[in-house]
Amino acid sequence: MRLSRYFMPILKENPKEAEIVSHRLMLRAGMIRQQSQGIYSWLPLGKRVLDKVNAIIREEQNRSGAIEVLMPTLQSAELWQESGRYDDYGKEMLRIKDRQERPMLYGPTNEEMITDIFRSYVKSYKNLPLNLYHIQLKFRDEIRPRFGTMRSREFLMKDAYSFDLTKEGALHAYNKMFVAYLRTFARLGLRAIPMRADTGPIGGNHSHEFIILADTGESEVFCHKDFIDFDIPGAETNFDDVAGLQAVFDKWTSIYAATSEMHDEAAFDVIPEGDRLSARGIEVGHIFYFGTKYSEPMGAKVQGPDGKEHPVHMGSYGIGPTRLVPAIIEASHDDNGIIWPASVAPFDVVVINMKPGDEACDRICETLYGGLETIGKDVLYDDTDERAGTKFATADLIGVPVQVIVGPRSAAVGEVEVKDRKTGERETLTVEAAMNRLAGR
Ligand code: ATP
Ligand code: MG
Repeated sequence: MRLSRYFMPILKENPKEAEIVSHRLMLRAGMIRQQSQGIYSWLPLGKRVLDKVNAIIREEQNRSGAIEVLMPTLQSAELWQESGRYDDYGKEMLRIKDRQERPMLYGPTNEEMITDIFRSYVKSYKNLPLNLYHIQLKFRDEIRPRFGTMRSREFLMKDAYSFDLTKEGALHAYNKMFVAYLRTFARLGLRAIPMRADTGPIGGNHSHEFIILADTGESEVFCHKDFIDFDIPGAETNFDDVAGLQAVFDKWTSIYAATSEMHDEAAFDVIPEGDRLSARGIEVGHIFYFGTKYSEPMGAKVQGPDGKEHPVHMGSYGIGPTRLVPAIIEASHDDNGIIWPASVAPFDVVVINMKPGDEACDRICETLYGGLETIGKDVLYDDTDERAGTKFATADLIGVPVQVIVGPRSAAVGEVEVKDRKTGERETLTVEAAMNRLAGR
């Protein structure tokens, strides 16, 4: 992408409305625009990051055996009357009427709809287990939308729903998602800690919030330090290995971790003082086993091996991609701007032409730009006439992991400078060596 033809509306001033660093940087880098309170457009740079986050979420959902669908944002109130949640949900739900005066709503979540799909088609335990997910906009009329897309009213959610004949089956489905989540957040460059969450009347140990530590987080959290070094399950994980997944779950739930709502001071105090971590955190995912809470009232039953009908055991599993983007920034930035983990960076490389119009600079930049694009790299080519200082500031602000700086003096001798955004290290290389280096990244 040539910057001169791109749409990346950088703000020079710090936006007054932004209270936390990720919101400030997302506005300054031209990633998002607020359209009305808590409702955002994603501009090209932001959209690129969001797409990469979604791609990783999708890969890990698919790896675990979940299957993608797409349900609508607008739902009929009838389904919610069946489950009993239409009246319970309160003011967070946006209720609408269509031209026939039929009550509709903008979905805050999809348990009812997916249960309806399930009951329409699946009649036998032989078609289980099943886990269906989608990545779709949700609307919740939050009392206090704030921090940009961290807590917005309209936001994207990946929500998966599992169906099993028995509770044991459902707990294996839960463990699959548990492992998929550990992998997903690690690939996004985040250390997420699963913390026991309230299961309400259902009880048990089967609701976890995945929290990343950040000073600006809205949750107060308490956990054992050892989580920081726990190994993440590998890509070769066999998701059908019931005992293997259970072992991962047991390990990750063997030491203390809780948000303030579930905090148990006495249990926390048992941890040696030097191993206690009390901090703030951002909830980026939430998984929940809820048994037959929806299948029973909505009649989602399958025939078991005993020939009888059984309501299915269900779980739901959410991740917030539009919250993850700012969460990644909270975890990875410096005074000059964002530092993207390579896995979600909007571009792999930015090539900075210090003197457009200079024959050697132009030639080398075109060689690098074309060559890197050809081998599948996402390259931003800064071919604009801005001052050098502005170009450097922009490259740092938008956080692309590698910068290649092409100035007239070194270009004349066939050399460029390669700068690592994270460490700030710079190295002078020949064009060929730079190409090889970047191709290997
Ligand atoms: P919170 O306690 O932060 O309001 P929640 O418990 O309401 O979250 P869930 O219903 O479990 O959230 O939704 C699953 C995921 O969707 C959350 O873990 C979060 O990543 C994301 N999410 C929820 N509400 C919002 C929001 N208002 N803005 C952005 N993302 C959200
Ligand atoms: Mg909420």
